[in-house]
Amino acid sequence: MTRPTLHPDTLAVRAGEDPFRPHDALAVPVEFAIAHGYPDVASWEQVARGDAPGPLYSRNTAQPATLALEARLAALEGAEAAVAFSSGMAAISSTLMALLRPGARVVAGKDTYGGSHYLFQHTLPHWGVQVTLCDTTDAGAFAAAMAQGCDLLYLESPTNPMLKVQDIHRLAAAGHAAGAWVVIDNTFATPVNQQPLALGADLVLHSATKFLGGHADAMGGIACGSRALTDQLRHYREIHGACLDPMSAFLILRGIKTLALRMRQHNANALALAQWLQAHPAVARVNYPGLPDHPQHALAASQMQGFGGVLSFELAGGFAAVQAMLPRCQLLIRAATLGSVDTLLGIPSTTSHVECSEAERVALGIPGGLVRCSVGIEDVRDLIADLAQALA
Ligand SMILES: *Cc1c(COP(=O)(O)O)cnc(C)c1O
Repeated sequence: MTRPTLHPDTLAVRAGEDPFRPHDALAVPVEFAIAHGYPDVASWEQVARGDAPGPLYSRNTAQPATLALEARLAALEGAEAAVAFSSGMAAISSTLMALLRPGARVVAGKDTYGGSHYLFQHTLPHWGVQVTLCDTTDAGAFAAAMAQGCDLLYLESPTNPMLKVQDIHRLAAAGHAAGAWVVIDNTFATPVNQQPLALGADLVLHSATKFLGGHADAMGGIACGSRALTDQLRHYREIHGACLDPMSAFLILRGIKTLALRMRQHNANALALAQWLQAHPAVARVNYPGLPDHPQHALAASQMQGFGGVLSFELAGGFAAVQAMLPRCQLLIRAATLGSVDTLLGIPSTTSHVECSEAERVALGIPGGLVRCSVGIEDVRDLIADLAQALA
């Protein structure tokens, strides 16, 4: 692991760009050319073999904005290297398919992102990988499952949409004792609020579509870890083709310049909104790790520097109350994403768990009256006023 010498706020603005800014340009160029010409066979072959750096064909060797983005995320996560993908799901599925073989065993929590849950329930078993899904916050259940053998331990904390928190340090140690790679989806926390590699994880995955990009205008994914592991993923990307488009790489890179600043406002607004919702008579329950009565609040406080921008709440009136309330919101937007500067509301059946049947959602303990709120960076007084009139 490289030790960053600059502080995270500075890394968010600067890390990774310098080698890709010709003549001290203040932004990385977006290069659309997918190949470059070579003057002779020897220098061309050197690049093709990987013996010299340089562009070859943009599925094999990424463009400047993508390389800068990879270097920046590696710096922010304290990783040796990072590999960017075309979406968060591309990063997740590529990691699983690159590292696992038929007969391998995976242990994960039940509360992973809907797309990841689908891979665990359907895709991996189809390829002969055995998956055991444990109660997400029960470290004892994970230990028991890993005692049966484990090649890859998959974590996600906090979870979507119930905001459960996993003990990353403890589970990573148990995973390593079982001989497993420890992989974690850090999308909700971002490296500003949580650095899982320092807590023992081997690979950190992100949907860069969310807080990293931050403006709901670019899709991407990224995996950060050791050179050896990320090289395997890079090779998988070369062959399987889920490479990041250069314009999206540029937008995500630009979004990350304000990541630290945005996360401070997301953290503060989400806490204020969580406290306000908790006191509202129409709200049965609020899920936010920053609330003192969250079941894993102390754990969250010990492994996170901020509790993030996402919360969920359950209306006492169930799904009927959700159907009545959502259309009444005027400022808050009903949309199937999170991590944007705009405050967004979503329901599991159309967002995180759109891939699951209603029976599966009930089995996962996701209540019908649940609303997920990705709290943006607006003035929280305006957010509260809009929710107050919608709930009245
Ligand atoms: C959105 C999301 C993903 C998937 O990312 P995409 O960029 O939409 O493919 C994975 N994990 C979490 C926690 C997410 O919120």
